[in-house]
Amino acid sequence: MTTRTPLMAGNWKMNLNHLEAIAHVQKLAFALADKDYDAVEVAVLVPFTDLRSVQTLVEHDKLKIKYGAQDVSAHDGGAYTGEISGPMLAKLRCTYVAIGHSERRQYHAETDELVNAKVKAAYKHGLTPILCVGEELDVREAGHHVEHTLTQVEGALKDLPAEQAETVVIAYEPVWAIGTGKVCGADDAQEVCAAIRGKLAELYSQELADRVRIQYGGSVKSGNVAEIMAKPDIDGALVGGASLDSDEFVKIVRFRD
Ligand code: PEP
Repeated sequence: MTTRTPLMAGNWKMNLNHLEAIAHVQKLAFALADKDYDAVEVAVLVPFTDLRSVQTLVEHDKLKIKYGAQDVSAHDGGAYTGEISGPMLAKLRCTYVAIGHSERRQYHAETDELVNAKVKAAYKHGLTPILCVGEELDVREAGHHVEHTLTQVEGALKDLPAEQAETVVIAYEPVWAIGTGKVCGADDAQEVCAAIRGKLAELYSQELADRVRIQYGGSVKSGNVAEIMAKPDIDGALVGGASLDSDEFVKIVRFRD
């Protein structure tokens, strides 16, 4: 049986300036013990302006926390005002980059085609995408949530070779559960995560599908994380609001306690 190390990633969204970022990562690092990292990978996805300070702290103090960005341009460079490229993130030694977060899809009209281009750009520059997928409330109410999410997965991974796809992290984030306090039931989250793994098996192979980590995201807190993590196809959490509270995020990392 394949063992997948759970990934607990905090998505800070547009919160914490570069000084607050240092204080926050220091608090996390102080609270987390070496043994916490034995069974769980911990990452923070921070605003672009925080990356340099987080990198400096992580490297100077040899912290085990991984870090990354919340978006990446599909382009390598040039006349794309306001964008940040894969080479720039790679230079800052980011491990991860979130791609296709529902807030990007909703407020910046990101399509599956653009998400696919960004996933390819991330791999081109050695970054691991955390690919975000999930349905809006009306889609779930109409019973089309699985189909909708699988279409997003297929679109995002289009023409991606297996040697890249096998390291992708997929975050299933029902849009109606993000930042709303409404958690998707653990069984409902498992249903979609299992379907995503099934889609990976169909697109690539069962072996590859068994290696890919699939996270759940949407109002994850210390009080609900254990139930979610008990599901066989859920390999971590993408945590928004609760990741801004270091005590709460540490409890989420220690979901087994
Ligand atoms: C997110 O931003 O990806 C997220 C899941 O947010 P929250 O945990 O606040 O619902």
